Amino acid sequence: MRTCHAWPPLRRPAATPARAGASTGPDVTSKKAVFLDRDGTIIRDAHYLSDPAQVELLPDAAKAIGMLRSAGFLLFLFTNQSGIGRGFFTLESVHRCNERMVELIGSGPAVFTGICIAPESPGQPAVYRKPNPRFIDESVARHQLDRSLSWMAGDKVIDVETGINAKINAALIGTRRLPENITAPVYESLFTFARAVTARPG
Ligand SMILES: [Mg+2]
Repeated sequence: MRTCHAWPPLRRPAATPARAGASTGPDVTSKKAVFLDRDGTIIRDAHYLSDPAQVELLPDAAKAIGMLRSAGFLLFLFTNQSGIGRGFFTLESVHRCNERMVELIGSGPAVFTGICIAPESPGQPAVYRKPNPRFIDESVARHQLDRSLSWMAGDKVIDVETGINAKINAALIGTRRLPENITAPVYESLFTFARAVTARPG
């Protein structure tokens, strides 16, 4: 079983720096990224989702993703899918759900620079499974991301822990509460998160 999947394939950094003043779009020159959880963050958290027909964007999620991209963030999808490791569904079904989600987002097929689907169940040795920050670490190295400007955002404490473990910024999305020993900003939705981080300088 492959443990992490980049879909669409990760793009390599530009070989030469952009000319000063050249209009290159945000994806070429950006050094900051948002790593996004999927279930309960971008789409409605359907229990062990495996049917693309059940993919449903959360309110204003597409708008939030557009705002983040316009502000120059590279976007990465980072999702634990233990249903694969448990044998409930296949990696291929996760790909199909992701394709449907990307279709609904409507920002084109390359909206995510990279996608990590961690298939391990909690009882299996974690390779990419959150809160392991390995995917973030690898993406930071590959894309020369600035950790101080980058974020992990998700609806579970484990998402926040992943961001902390990767030494990037971390935000909790939704209505869950953080334990007392974890400090991170909490936003009610991906949209309010996007509005906040795109208002910051840098
Ligand atoms: Mg989630």
